[in-house]
Order: sequence, then C-alpha cells, then structure tokens
Amino acid sequence: MAVSLERLRGRLIDLHLHSDGSISISAARRLAELGGTPLDALSDAEVFDRISVGDSCEDLNEYLDKFVFPLSLIQTREQVAEHIRLLEDELKERGYAYAELRFAPQSFCERGLTQRQVVEAALEGLRASDFEARLILCCMRGADNLAANLETIELAGEYLGNEVVAADLAGAEAIFPTADFAPVFERARELGVPFTIHAGEADGPQSVRDALAMGAARIGHGVRAAEDPALVRELAERQVPIEVCYTSELQTGALEGVGVHAVGELLEAGCKVVICSDNNSVSNTWVGRELMLLSDVLGLGNAEVTQLLLNAVDASFADEATKARLRGVIAG
Ligand SMILES: [Zn+2]
Repeated sequence: MAVSLERLRGRLIDLHLHSDGSISISAARRLAELGGTPLDALSDAEVFDRISVGDSCEDLNEYLDKFVFPLSLIQTREQVAEHIRLLEDELKERGYAYAELRFAPQSFCERGLTQRQVVEAALEGLRASDFEARLILCCMRGADNLAANLETIELAGEYLGNEVVAADLAGAEAIFPTADFAPVFERARELGVPFTIHAGEADGPQSVRDALAMGAARIGHGVRAAEDPALVRELAERQVPIEVCYTSELQTGALEGVGVHAVGELLEAGCKVVICSDNNSVSNTWVGRELMLLSDVLGLGNAEVTQLLLNAVDASFADEATKARLRGVIAG
C-alpha cells in the first residue's frame, strides 16, 4: 500500500530541526512586530525569499547565509519565547507527535541577552505550548568562540533533564573541522551531556570518524559516510543513529559525491537512519514531506516508513517513559 501523509498524521517525529531555520512567514511577521520593526512593506513572497534558499543554492556556506535574517528576529527574551511557542504550535498543527528543537543560544545574544537568558526564554516558550518537544543546545563551529561553546555545554549540563536533553555542533563544517572541537565535547562527556554532531555533510568520512571518537551519540546528516564502506559498517554495527535531512542535503550539495541513493545504501547496510527536516523554512520542507519524498525515491512502503519513525523514537534523547508512549502512538 502506498505511503500516505494522512496515515502519518499524529505520528511524525523530527529529531533534527533548527528552530531558527524553521520560521514560517507568519511567525517572521509576528517576531518582527515584537521587535518593533514590522514587515508590512514586504509581500509574503519577499519574506519567503529572506528565509528560504532557492533552487540555485551553491553550498553549505550559502545555505547558512539564510539564517542571517531569521536570527535578526530572535534577539529579545520575548522573541525567543514566542519563536519557540509558535514553532511548537505549528508542528502540532501539522500532525507531529514529538520533536527535538535545536538552536545555538550564542546566536540569540546579538542584542545583549546572555546565553542563560536565552535558555530561560526558550523554556518559557516551550512550556507555553502543550506540544511535546525537547531542546538541544547547539555549539557553533567558529574560530574564536571556544568560551561561548563551553558556556553552552555548561548550560546544557545545568538544565539537563526533562526539557533540555542534549548538545550539538553546527555551522560551517568545511571551514572548521570537527576535530578542532574535541575540548568542547570532552567537557560535555565530563558533565554527562549527550550530544549529536553535524558531520559528513560538507566534510567527508573523517569528520564522522572524529565525531564518533569524540563520543557523539548521533550523527547529524552523516550521508558522506557512504564514501567509506568500512565506516558504514561501523555505523551499522554500533547502530549510531544518522539524522538524514534529504532535501537540505540536496541543497547544500552533501549528496553530490555519494549520489541521491546514499540514503538507501545506508538503510540497506543496516544503519539506524532517522529522517529529519533540518530547517522547515530555509529548506522549505517538513518531515512529512521528507518521508513522502524518500518513500518515493527509495520505493519504501508503510512498514519501512513505520520503521523509520520507530528508529526516531529509539534515537531520541527523551526519557524511556516518553519513548514507550511514542512507540504506542506510532504502532496505534
Ligand atoms: Zn542541521
């Protein structure tokens, strides 16, 4: 039986979702209004153009440029809280059962907020919606932000529990190699903060190997692992979840070398693949669309798509009781 979006409704899970890359047009208008600079002069098409890459996206660096405008809208306590609440409400509306939202607290500090104030505001927003979500705090690849990244890890350790569940490393992988951030994640390990790392997206298999050596519990993207059969075998043996974001990987060129069927190869090799959206506005997609796209490209049926959703539950950083509930939702 063909996979249908209707059947997936209420069962959708997204574990790799950047909140700041997932601002809808209406949310952008609302956040701009809160910041005192309404977007009334812009049409919806013009707002969309500022928050989404076109078909001509060259690489990850151009992709990352699309965060500049959304980030300008999330710089006050009120904006951070409202941003998270609006996103959660939109996910609920679209039929998600659960999501792990990620953002880099240091990116919301351009107008004077501290990282702690950002986390507090995000938690306020999270609690204002009845949708079930958790937060992942991202560190950023950069040349001179070691102190800010370490502060993010300390905050993740302090707030670790029911709502903040993990840390991440995001940003320009081809410019700032994964291994450079080993000291940051050594501290995460000391504090018992689980983490995922973007690796094998703009950089190759060595980046994934470095992320694994640093103790990553999951790999963000990871599709370029397909360039190295021994690494694919290791990922499959260890069942390290791979957060595949297909549309985003087409846009950034991550799939160029390994081909669009790399995701199928990872699945066939027995890897624990999880389908995610990365950025709902920047990539102009969402996890329901991603599952439909991949079921089409790879010829997946309902049983395989259900398995992908169960993989997401297994891979999630949620507590066991939440995972048990989500398994029931997906099976039901
Ligand atoms: Zn990402």
